[in-house]
Order: sequence, then C-alpha cells, then structure tokens
Amino acid sequence: MDHKKKLDELKNRLREVNDLRSAGAVLAWDQMTYMPEGGAPARGRQMATMARIAQEKLIDPAIGKLLDDLRPHEESLPFDDDDASLVRVARRDYERATRVPPEFMARFNEHQVESYQAWATARPADDFAKTTPHLEKTLDFSRELADYFPGYDHIADPLIDFADTGMKAASVRALFADLRAAQVPVVQAILAQEPANDSCIRRHFPEREQMAFCEDVVRAIGYDFQRGRLDKTHHPFTITFSTGDVRITTRVREDYLGECLFSNIHEAGHALYEQGSDPKYDGTPLAGGASAGVHESQSRLWENIVGRSRGFWEFFLPKLKKVFPDQLRGVSLDAFHRAINKVERSLIRTDADEVTYNLHIMLRFEFELALLEGSLAVRDLPEAWRERFQADLGIAPPDDKDGVLQDVHWYDGTIGGVFQGYTLGNVMGAQFYQAALKAHPEIPQEIGRGKFDTLHAWLVENIYRHGRKYTAPELVRRVTGADISITPYIQYLRAKYGDLYTL
Ligand code: ZN
Repeated sequence: MDHKKKLDELKNRLREVNDLRSAGAVLAWDQMTYMPEGGAPARGRQMATMARIAQEKLIDPAIGKLLDDLRPHEESLPFDDDDASLVRVARRDYERATRVPPEFMARFNEHQVESYQAWATARPADDFAKTTPHLEKTLDFSRELADYFPGYDHIADPLIDFADTGMKAASVRALFADLRAAQVPVVQAILAQEPANDSCIRRHFPEREQMAFCEDVVRAIGYDFQRGRLDKTHHPFTITFSTGDVRITTRVREDYLGECLFSNIHEAGHALYEQGSDPKYDGTPLAGGASAGVHESQSRLWENIVGRSRGFWEFFLPKLKKVFPDQLRGVSLDAFHRAINKVERSLIRTDADEVTYNLHIMLRFEFELALLEGSLAVRDLPEAWRERFQADLGIAPPDDKDGVLQDVHWYDGTIGGVFQGYTLGNVMGAQFYQAALKAHPEIPQEIGRGKFDTLHAWLVENIYRHGRKYTAPELVRRVTGADISITPYIQYLRAKYGDLYTL
C-alpha cells in the first residue's frame, strides 16, 4: 500500500471513532436538556456502550501500524501540512489511549464512582474527613496514571498535558507565580474601596424576555444558528456533533440578569471556536480546539473582554432598556458597566468575578502540585486552603463545604491537570486580543457600534480554523510572535479596572 491509501485508511478508521463519539454526544446533549427522568438508567448504559466501542476502535493495533507506516511520509512533509498534522495529532491520541492498561482504567473508574458518592454526601454535611481516604486513593491513582507516561520532569506533567498539551508544571508554575505577584496588589487595591452597586441587575427580569435578548446577543457576535441551537440546562455547556452542529445551553435566574447573559456569551465563545474549525477537518482528529486553555481563552475573551466592556454596552444597553424599560429606567451606562464588573471577596470559584477568579485557580493548581510531590498531605488541605485564602483574598471560608469541598473535580477525576486551563485561558485570551488590536486598532470602536465581524474574522483566520493542529504554545507563538505571557492580561486588567476604581 502506498502512503495515499494508508492515509485514507487511517482517516476512515478515525472517522468511525469520531462518528461513534459524536453520536454519544447527541445522547449526552439530550440527557442534559430534554430527556425525561425515566430515561436515565438506559441512557447511562447506552452512552457507556458507545464510548466503549469508540475506544475499542481507537486502540485497534491496525491504527498503530498505520501510524508507524506513515511516519516517513509525515517526516517528508512540512510541520503544518494538513496530512502531517493529522498523523501527528492522531498518534498523540492513540498513544494516550493505548499506554494506560484497560484494567487500570476499570479500577480507577470504580474508585471515582465511590469517591464521587462520598463527596456528594460529605459536602452538604461539611465532613471533609469522610472524603480523606478517597482523596488519598485518588492521589495514588493519579501518580500511577502519570507513570504510564515516563520521562516527565514533574509528576504532574502528563496530567497537565492531557488537557493543555505542550504545557508543563514548571512553565505553568512560573507563569502563575508572576501572575499572582502582579494580580494580588490589584485585587487588594480594589477590595479596599467602596464596592460597586449592582442592584440594577438584581431586579425581576422575566425569563422569556431574557432568553430572547440573549439569543440576539449571541447572534450578533457571530454564533451561527444555522449550525447550532440554544437550549436550557442546569449547568451550561457547549457540545459539538460536527462543525455544522455546535450547540450551546444556558440557565436563567429571574432575579439576576448576569446569569443567562454572561453564561450565554461564554458558551457562544466556545461555540464560535468550534464552528470556526476548517470544514475540511470535520470528522478528523484535527477538528475542535487546541487545548482546555485555548478553549477557555475564547469563552473568556468574548464574555469578559468584549461582553463586559463599556463599548459593548454602549451598543446593547439601549436595546436592553427597550426589553426591560421599568427595571432599567434611569440606569446610566456607567452604572451598568460598574454593576456587571463588580469585584468582591467570594468563597466560591464559580461565583468569582474576573479580577479575583485567577486567585481561586492558582491556589488549586499549587495544591495539586504539592499533593503530587508529597509536600502536602490530604488531611492538611483544609487548613492550607484557609491560610492561602486569607493571604490572597483577605477572607477565610468558615467551613470546608465552601472551602476545599466546593469543586467536584478532585472527587470524580484526577488530582493534577484539571484547573490550570481556566487561568491559562484568561492569560491567552488577553494576549490574543492584543494581537487582534495590533492588526485592527478599529475593533473597540466597532464593538461600540455592534459590529463584531472584524474581530470574529481575525479569530477564525488566526485561531479557529486551525482546530487541533497546533498546541497552545505553538499557536500563541504563531499568532503573537511571542511565548505565552501575562503582560497583556495585566495591562488589560490595569486599564479596565483603573477606569472603574482607583489603582
Ligand atoms: Zn468555559
């Protein structure tokens, strides 16, 4: 067989894996939106069956053989050639799937179910001790998982690489140390001042009008309803079945305008990225997003940098006032802008504002490293959590329920690799936006007129269309000419919050 035939066979086999996963995704979307309760037991089994068959097809040694045979062809092509990239990315996926023994995964999955159940009752009871033996076992499993990928510098490296390919503990740690040093003074300066009044977005806003307005907003920024749809759910998410069908979900609180509005813009940011993949990659491993961090860079760029900017509301506030004339009567653009950018001490990561959010992530990331290294014991986590919170945010959680027990991640996943993407997203989002402004300085003025296509087209051209072809560090270098850097993000924070507060 010549390489052309082998490449076709590889693509056909991988398309089958993709089709099975996409069909599984339809089942998952339905489960989280419209499925009646009675469907739950069968649906869980159906999704597990689809996932198992997809996995069996992916780890077929025939794929390994094709990848080996195609290596000379891959090496004869430029790095960014589509075929070379397809083989490179497929090999990474294949190795990740085949290096971990199925027997280990079965044991780990069984443990994760038990650990999740322990957490689900321990959190409302504020009983961290109940989860300690489970977390200790999770830590052992996480170390064992990392050891299937030998040759690392830090034991967290393989776990970080699963979500944020190309990043390592050392590079993230250095970046976060600089970020913390620059960000804590900004947070403390703001928190020492009078908090913003956000009562104007905490009035009664009926659901139907909120949903209609949010639909207009995401359509305006470029979300394509011909290739997607918007539905309600409990925890908003974006899900992709193909480049031609990328769906978003939201939830509504009638007593708080921010929930539906900003979760919608956030999910639409993820969806713009997925809808923007080059159509010729559809059904191949090259479709989708580069990493957790790059994905988050897009949801946060649209949600925070664009959606919480003054210019954005210069255009949209008059429209919002037409929908809610009584609730927003007399509310000025400045007052509204301050309300949607209120900074406050909060215990809960998911409620945190744009300024304090990274502090929530960085402490979790550092605890993950310390736990994996063995320099922090699981039983000492609650105390370490309180100390660090006090130092960074000036408050400490009164209990573990709103402290170390608040996120599900460690209780149903690994310890290591699960949090860094959120903050990397904030950092890269600002870096990408700065590069877009350098190419098109007119973007902020355009946003003030409700025109988003220059920014959207720049993001498609430079980021979205490449799908998974480049890792995050490769992509950042390609797009900005520099390595991942906190400077644009800190400049952005200082400029924006310097207008809202005295810094
Ligand atoms: Zn997100």
